Amino acid sequence: MSKFLIFIFLPILFISCQNHPSNNFDNYINTVAGPMPIDSMGLTLIHEHMLVDFIGADSISPDRWNRDSVIVKVLPYLMEVNKHGVRTILDCTPSYLAKDPLLLKALSEKSGIQILTNTGFYGAVRGKYLPDFVQTETAEQLAERWIAEFENGIEGTGIKPGFIKISVNEANTLSPIDQKLVKAAGITHQKTGLTIASHTGTWKTASQELKILKEMEVKPSEFVWVHAQNEPDFANYEKAAEMGVWISLDGIGWAIDPYVERLLFAKENRILGNILISHDAGWFDPAKPGGGDFQPFTNIFEKLIPILTEKGFTDKDWNQLLVENPKEAFVFSK
Ligand SMILES: [Zn+2]
Repeated sequence: MSKFLIFIFLPILFISCQNHPSNNFDNYINTVAGPMPIDSMGLTLIHEHMLVDFIGADSISPDRWNRDSVIVKVLPYLMEVNKHGVRTILDCTPSYLAKDPLLLKALSEKSGIQILTNTGFYGAVRGKYLPDFVQTETAEQLAERWIAEFENGIEGTGIKPGFIKISVNEANTLSPIDQKLVKAAGITHQKTGLTIASHTGTWKTASQELKILKEMEVKPSEFVWVHAQNEPDFANYEKAAEMGVWISLDGIGWAIDPYVERLLFAKENRILGNILISHDAGWFDPAKPGGGDFQPFTNIFEKLIPILTEKGFTDKDWNQLLVENPKEAFVFSK
């Protein structure tokens, strides 16, 4: 019966979203193939990379990679997670680090996996990935650029971002540029309903970002604390969860033990409802021969789930972490 209802309901939702993508904030996501109903997300990896180029904002150019070569390299890894039931991947490669929406669209079509790309700028690594105009423009002007990507698509492709991705440097006090990026993200969120994912690290820095957003009346539940695994004091996870912040434990492609420890803490302290998990894995690197070594998107399925299931994690917990939380975190809302 419930399956039957879903078959009836999904096409109706889809049609209504297609007709009114800009005024129906609660029911859809922007994938690289266009707006899709939120319930189509299914099993979701919220932080992965298909392509990253670390050359820097002053030298980046699409001439540095061949799209077909990237597809040949990346597609088998997508087919692998497809077998694990993954339906949606959020690609977190920002502008000036080789964000390539047409590449993502081709990979999505070939793999059958929905992919979301992002808008925003990456301030970490002392601004190596920021174009010069970020120094002089105001937060409002930067936000205008990101809102234009949401409204008109990215660089003439017509492909719209599914979330905001920024990054800031770890600091006792956020730099003026980093503060400006957070403000621009807040303005963009207010105008578009897109969720803000910020590459951060520790709570010391995340809490400063949240303070700026609070002053702008942006809810903490619109903020994803990216790389929260770098936080040494687990009590800060409870603080963040209490505020409604999304805690992103997202380096599982590279290690397992720190995540086992943190997820057990989260379950024991009943904050799994605020946790997002992913691998931060991948990617084709144009600076390396053949794109370099590729870190697969499979540790969650092959290592983490067996270990934690043995320690008491249930199907309901996995459904929450990999299906329900991503949906709730990345749904459009203002
Ligand atoms: Zn990443």
